[in-house]
Amino acid sequence: MTIDPAPYEPVIGLEVHAQLSTRSKIFCGCSATYGAQPNSQTCPICLGLPGALPVLNRQAVEYAMRLILALCGKVRSRSIFARKNYFYPDLPKGYQISQFDLPLGVGGAIDFATDGEKVSVRLIRVHLEEDAGKSLHPEAGNDGEVTSVDMNRCGVPLMEIVSHPDIRSPRQASHYLQKLHQILQYIAVCTGNMEEGAFRCDANVSVRPAGTPGLGTRTELKNMNSFRAVERALNYEIERQTTMLRQGGSVVQETMLWDEKAQSAHPMRSKEESSDYRYFPEPDLLPLRISEQWIQAVEKSLPEMPKARAARIEKQYGIPAYDAAVLTESRALADYFEATVSAHPDAKRVSNWIMTEVLRVLKDKGIPIDKFPVMPPALAEMLTMIDDGAISGKMAKDVFDQMVLTGRSAKEIVSSGGLTQISDEPMLNAMVETVLRDNRGQVATYKSGNARVLAFFVGQVMKLTQGKANPQRVSDLLKAQLDKSL
Ligand SMILES: [Zn+2]
Repeated sequence: MTIDPAPYEPVIGLEVHAQLSTRSKIFCGCSATYGAQPNSQTCPICLGLPGALPVLNRQAVEYAMRLILALCGKVRSRSIFARKNYFYPDLPKGYQISQFDLPLGVGGAIDFATDGEKVSVRLIRVHLEEDAGKSLHPEAGNDGEVTSVDMNRCGVPLMEIVSHPDIRSPRQASHYLQKLHQILQYIAVCTGNMEEGAFRCDANVSVRPAGTPGLGTRTELKNMNSFRAVERALNYEIERQTTMLRQGGSVVQETMLWDEKAQSAHPMRSKEESSDYRYFPEPDLLPLRISEQWIQAVEKSLPEMPKARAARIEKQYGIPAYDAAVLTESRALADYFEATVSAHPDAKRVSNWIMTEVLRVLKDKGIPIDKFPVMPPALAEMLTMIDDGAISGKMAKDVFDQMVLTGRSAKEIVSSGGLTQISDEPMLNAMVETVLRDNRGQVATYKSGNARVLAFFVGQVMKLTQGKANPQRVSDLLKAQLDKSL
């Protein structure tokens, strides 16, 4: 066996299926809600009964337009639906209504950074289609010996987002998906819930000698259920293809199923070509025509995108770019930050609290920011209490934890729990005197030039106040007393 030392590079393209969060399905009025009793959300149209005719859901079209425009793609004024013919038990019609020749959206790009390098991945197309039903196999948690089928998902609206093979590493692939996932949620067209299958990804991957222009034979990877799984599956497949080519073999074009438990992929079927599906224009639906006014209205309705919002927040509030990027990771978090700053204008302090304490709680509890029990005005009120000296920074952490736990305001917690910081000067001075009187030996040590004893005195006063004094204040008062009696 000869060893080929030439390095190989991967060429990756991604196909994402994002479920549109419309209330009803794409071609009928059935509910598209996830998790209902199996087969309870069906009708003659989504079951494909003879004579039933599809009617396009306007909201689904508009949601897809939102994404296309958010990614700077072009919405076609005329697109057509097509039948993709294949047999599967959860596809009662024997075909799926999709788009082929003339998809709704073309072009656009997704920009992100990987390890400091800017990456721009171009999009080939964004099109609309209906989902198929769901087969529940015995090994997938179904208790019987048979495979059953749930038709609730038949006709749920999907958007397929197809990238050019511009991705050069599994890490880039993961970042691309995270960016797309973020944008879908910003524009509120998809829940992004991967466990419920609302955001699914297939990856096409091939390898070639690094720096050469040609494309190797690709395989398609399916069944990755997290960003990490996509990265691992791609690493596995790139390694497999590279080893095979190095050993003089050749890659077979096929579809591979990723097995997360085994951390390996196995062939599912030979990869089909589009001609295998015998696409033809859907005779039951007219071409979809979209006016320039509609496109402009949708464009106007788009919210500020993450990149633009991060840039504005950085500039407007004078916080570091890093903070702005973290705070704009989700639209809800950015809203939370801006609402808090509007009530407590020290933006850097607000940012610090959100990035450390708030995000820590969200992570511990596994909840999104919109389920966070402390509302922006309540957080702002607590920060103002620190400014006013009503509570110390150290006490604030305890108060904050109680706010999260009980949903009560900082003021309520402090007044009912006796957490108010002692800022009464005569009272503190009296305590300082007591401590100095009771520790004459240490006072002598201080006077002999050992200033480190000061920390001991501060500790004693804090003990007397049960931690309710401001340590800096105590230290100042101690110094004043000690220096006076020098
Ligand atoms: Zn239906």
